Amino acid sequence: MTENTEGPFGPRRYRAWNEHVKTRYGGRVQKVSIEAGFTCPNRDGKLATGGCTFCNNDGFTPGYLNRRQSITEQINAGLDFLLRRYPGTDRYIAYFQSYSNTYGELAHLRALYEEALAHPKISGLAIGTRPDCLPDAVLDYLAELARGHIIELEIGVESCNDAVLASVNRGHDFAASVDAIGRAAARGLEVTAHLLLGLPGESMDSMLDGARQMSALPVHALKLHQLQLVRGTAMARAWQRDPSSVPLLDEPACIAMLADFIERLSPAILLQRVGSEVPPSMKLAPAWNVRLSELAPRISTELARRGSWQGSRYMATGSTSTGAKPPPSVLKLVV
Ligand code: SF4
Repeated sequence: MTENTEGPFGPRRYRAWNEHVKTRYGGRVQKVSIEAGFTCPNRDGKLATGGCTFCNNDGFTPGYLNRRQSITEQINAGLDFLLRRYPGTDRYIAYFQSYSNTYGELAHLRALYEEALAHPKISGLAIGTRPDCLPDAVLDYLAELARGHIIELEIGVESCNDAVLASVNRGHDFAASVDAIGRAAARGLEVTAHLLLGLPGESMDSMLDGARQMSALPVHALKLHQLQLVRGTAMARAWQRDPSSVPLLDEPACIAMLADFIERLSPAILLQRVGSEVPPSMKLAPAWNVRLSELAPRISTELARRGSWQGSRYMATGSTSTGAKPPPSVLKLVV
């Protein structure tokens, strides 16, 4: 029998979210972004007023959003745009994306989420938030919603390194993420964690250790973002004053770092994103520009060049050797 040199995930070489969704729901699921008027405790003065030093939500907000519209009007506007762009989509979920979308009274959250779920085209919710904005009552409510809808809870972890989190004014530590992810997963919620790779103060070792730490948590999926400096942020201003204060990876180093990370990540975790793209008008640095649609194939190409794949260097907690092949239980999940 010949060896499958692509590993268990085919030519992509990692456990891709889109393929999982197609298998699970029988077709494409598209997110309709919602701007629900939230803020976050790192901006409204509860923790701080300046926000995380890398944050400018306008860098990630689709142009079709109008925050003065109701949730229903925003969904209609989003569908109008998405139906033209992705005509073959089978299902839509409302994406509460900007700021911390569980930061509010439960009654207020209920009103917003249930207006979205009442839309005839909406099958579920994706809700982005901070780990310290997830009290048990909110998680209980989301778990209740998840019994009848797709509910994807996105938690901003950003780094597993407390010194890095403090230096970017994140306002919570890694233990807060471990706690929130654990409490959500204990209720059966599927958690997607965000990591921002390449923050100042992060070393290659600390980022790769992040793959190990995330692999030990009950996360369903990860979104990896590479550091890009967005205009209007404190980090962008610091870089303009002194570029050496915010070291940035060039393109080959970034692709190599993402491949290194993916090799060390548990093969059981889905990768919902392997990079991000800031609109050129919002991006200050780095100068290199690869469309997101090109970045993912380049990472697969790098993994192929190495003859590796997601988890090929993963060391399970308690294990003493790296896994040249994924464990049989994982192979069962992906075939
Ligand atoms: S990244 Fe999130 S938590 Fe940080 S300032 Fe922006 S909205 Fe707030």
